[in-house]
Amino acid sequence: VNGDSDAKNLRVKLVLLGDSGVGKTCIVLRFVRGQFDPTSKVTVGASFLSQTIALQDSTTVKFEIWDTAGQERYAALAPLYYRGAAVAVIAYDITNPDSFHKAQHWVKELQKHGSPDIVLALVGNKADLQEKREVSVQDGIDYAEKNGMFFIETSAKTADNINQLFEEIAKRLPRPPP
Ligand code: GDP
Repeated sequence: VNGDSDAKNLRVKLVLLGDSGVGKTCIVLRFVRGQFDPTSKVTVGASFLSQTIALQDSTTVKFEIWDTAGQERYAALAPLYYRGAAVAVIAYDITNPDSFHKAQHWVKELQKHGSPDIVLALVGNKADLQEKREVSVQDGIDYAEKNGMFFIETSAKTADNINQLFEEIAKRLPRPPP
């Protein structure tokens, strides 16, 4: 949680990590613009968007979202993006077990090198593709529980659980003193 936050208005750096193609850009565009564009372009390096939400206790949370490229050749840049992040959202595709394993790699890296009080969220995206599912809900739950992470399955395509993802993260943020 950034320095110019106060008790009522938090400003939060959030970084999205995960394999290329799991739907990171689509999750952000669904959350920020309410849209799904199936032809969304591959993220090169990283891109930045922000979105503010209001919570029930009348606090607001402004998410500054860094959407990173999943490609291997950008992996060395990742520390630049997660440095100082209050939240890391680590995404995989429920139809792609490799992407689930890659997510676990990111979790380990963040546990080692991320901020000590970072909020980690594990997201199984493309939950609309039930007939192609290859990672069970239980596998996601179990891994997240073992690692003290928040877990949710989303669909950027149908918008299922996208707002909930960010609302749940907001509730888990450490609050600055009033
Ligand atoms: P990124 O590389 O992780 O940023 O992935 P993108 O956001 O570019 O999405 C990769 C591909 O997956 C695109 O063709 C999207 O249309 C598709 N996609 C993303 N999210 C979903 C989803 O929730 N459901 C389905 N069925 N496809 C999705």
